Amino acid sequence: MTDLLGLPRESLAEALAPVVDRPFRVEQIYQALYARAVPDFAGMTELSKDLRARLAERFHIGHPAISERRLAADDTCKYLFRLPDGATIEAVDIPDRGRRTFCISSQAGCALACKFCVTGYWGAGRDLTAGEIVGQVLAIRADRGLPMEGLNVVFMGMGEPLLNLPNVKAALDVLTEWISPQRITVSTVGLLPGIEEMAGWERRPNLAISLHAPDDARRSELMPVNRTWPLADLLAVLRRFPLERGRKITFEYILIDRFNDAPADADRLVRALAGLRAKVNLIPINPDTVLGGRMVPPDDARIDAFKERLRAKGLIATVRRRRGDDVSAACGQLRAFGRDPRGFRGKKEPPALSR
Ligand code: SAH
Repeated sequence: MTDLLGLPRESLAEALAPVVDRPFRVEQIYQALYARAVPDFAGMTELSKDLRARLAERFHIGHPAISERRLAADDTCKYLFRLPDGATIEAVDIPDRGRRTFCISSQAGCALACKFCVTGYWGAGRDLTAGEIVGQVLAIRADRGLPMEGLNVVFMGMGEPLLNLPNVKAALDVLTEWISPQRITVSTVGLLPGIEEMAGWERRPNLAISLHAPDDARRSELMPVNRTWPLADLLAVLRRFPLERGRKITFEYILIDRFNDAPADADRLVRALAGLRAKVNLIPINPDTVLGGRMVPPDDARIDAFKERLRAKGLIATVRRRRGDDVSAACGQLRAFGRDPRGFRGKKEPPALSR
């Protein structure tokens, strides 16, 4: 059965053609799917019973099933979704005064094994379909009673979006009919072929790069992918990445106590990013038992000193606030713990760091 949520407006009309021929009916269905986030055809009461039955025979609306939801004291809400094949993924709704950001997943796991990341610790999972990506946004909206307006979406949940680029692109084609690409951010470890492909897109979302270290030695230690796509190559490709006026590339930099948080590291970071339209988002690492005892954040004074050092040298730098802490919704803690564990990665011990 075809999932209607993976289809942008025109493809939706084509898919519906055998059942619905009048354009205004197609428009009613489109509005019901997105403006109202209706999860099933039964909810489309503006359509005849007969039409709803015929639609249900051929199509489905891929809202992932909410298997668990946890509302944090700060109103952040973490969702565990169960997909039809049993795969589980997480997404987070992060309200912030007038704004609101959904952090969504692109894969049901991750193969890249970054040492600071809980999802990576649990290992690879399958690619999500375009419908499953869009479905996360709609399922959260339906649950929280939210309109599409005013939403920001970040691909910073589980998985590496650029390893699932065709489906991420298809999902963006749908989402950008409702949300400006300027309000959508795709975060990547820095896979060059994917970044180069995105550079050619007409409607580009914001790009965020998980940098996390100022040199290859430490970046390779944290992120094995750096051995394939080292810093110099990554930064060269980013220097060519087309940016509209006023837009910048975000660099995410996890701060790990006494590992990458020295003043000299701030200086190296400034040099590495020279010539780029960059902003740096500093993320004090969220510790987790599976990550080992070295993966702890610096104290506030060190965090602040690092930020100020970047600023003094002219970089835009912010520190990411912790949200949803009490429900393990904070950065890097998405691990779909509701799934049947396939076991931890073999013999892996919590990572030892070199310094
Ligand atoms: N694979 C993509 C998308 C996942 S988002 C990427 O790596 O960019 C991954 C982001 O989650 C990282 O950039 C980091 O900002 C955050 N993250 C992962 N583990 C974390 C941890 N233990 N503490 C804080 N942030 C973490």
